[in-house]
Amino acid sequence: MDFRLSEEQLEIQDMVRKFARNEIAPLAAEIDRESRFPAETFRKMGELGLLGLLIPEEYGGVGQGVLTFCVAMEEIAWACASTSLSYLAHSVLCAHNLACNGSDAQKRKYLPDLASGKKLGAIAMTEPGAGSDVLSITTFAERSGGEYVINGSKTFITNAPVADTFLVYVRTDKQAGPGGISQFIVERGFPGFSVGQPFHKMGMRGSPTAELFFDDCRVPAENLVRGENRALGILLGGLDVERTVGAAMAVGGGRAAFDRARSYAMERQQFGQPIAMFEMIIEKLANMSMEIEAARLLAYKAATLCDQGVRCSAEASHAKLFGSEMAVRAASDAVQILGGYGYMQEYEVERILRDVRMGTIGGGTSEIQRLIIAKEILGRN
Ligand SMILES: Cc1cc2nc3c(=O)[nH]c(=O)nc-3n(C[C@H](O)[C@H](O)[C@H](O)COP(=O)(O)OP(=O)(O)OC[C@H]3O[C@@H](n4cnc5c(N)ncnc54)[C@H](O)[C@@H]3O)c2cc1C
Repeated sequence: MDFRLSEEQLEIQDMVRKFARNEIAPLAAEIDRESRFPAETFRKMGELGLLGLLIPEEYGGVGQGVLTFCVAMEEIAWACASTSLSYLAHSVLCAHNLACNGSDAQKRKYLPDLASGKKLGAIAMTEPGAGSDVLSITTFAERSGGEYVINGSKTFITNAPVADTFLVYVRTDKQAGPGGISQFIVERGFPGFSVGQPFHKMGMRGSPTAELFFDDCRVPAENLVRGENRALGILLGGLDVERTVGAAMAVGGGRAAFDRARSYAMERQQFGQPIAMFEMIIEKLANMSMEIEAARLLAYKAATLCDQGVRCSAEASHAKLFGSEMAVRAASDAVQILGGYGYMQEYEVERILRDVRMGTIGGGTSEIQRLIIAKEILGRN
């Protein structure tokens, strides 16, 4: 077991860290305040190759694996959680999913534009009546000649207001339960497809979220991924990667809170000494540091399994559950360490707390992660 990153991974980490500090972090407060998607950042990320990090070189990407992506994700999430969430939806949930499951023709058509950032991506699983119970989706696609006709709706879709390419899970067999789900590539502009107004959210405000509506939406049959009723494995495998990268995102958020709390605790004087000298404060910082490191190791382990092509639902759930709850604890403790200043917008930890709070909900709630882990424990001999 070697805990060191490769030379190439260290170079990518260094490049992304500089970019995140110089280009992403300075916009974080503004895009939160204005609920504005940072299109200019995504343009630059496309130029740097970051949007195609997981896309194979033959389709215009950089051809890196999930572990390297986690390394990059932590840096971006450290700088701005909203940017990291939209990056996750575009690069992992849409582009990487298509790179793993699409046909050669589908990949040639869609991946180069996703890698360059000319087009932005999203994924649509959740429906108003199917959240945690995602396999009960009812949005339905029926074949009609050379097309499929989709009816139904999706909700809480990250990037929906700005995306061009949507991977959409629908039902194609009403009797087959989880085995009756298919995946389609839907383009903005397909007849019968529309996007709702952005939701007003507690946090992650620079990452727009909206509903999708399918009203006799016509999709060419060649946009069906893998074949009818073949998407259960795609969906479950995709969730493993989503949760793994979501864990790395949480590590970045936790580290952002920790860094601010640490600096403040060393500077702020009360009772004639820096507050870091008080045991109750340094204990919080020590716990934050330990938990960030533990969360990173869990994320790296799940990412390594993803890269080895091993199904890793329990490991991904361990990483996502621990990481997302760690980030909430770290951000909440950071607010406490900053005292009244922590409650003020100027000091940023309140924004970090609002942002990381989403991590225990999106991509499967903490309760659902515990159920997955419980199933794994009880299923062992
Ligand atoms: C900012 C944001 C972005 C998102 N982006 C996307 C996206 O891009 N694409 C997408 O498809 N979805 C997206 N989602 C949706 C997200 O995945 C769902 O919100 C999540 O899976 C929970 O579903 P729900 O909101 O319907 O809650 P529900 O499933 O209704 O859950 C409500 C509560 O009940 C609990 N609960 C449910 N079932 C059980 C059970 N069996 N045992 C114990 N407790 C249970 C839950 O844990 C939760 O606490 C996003 C959500 C948010 C907030």
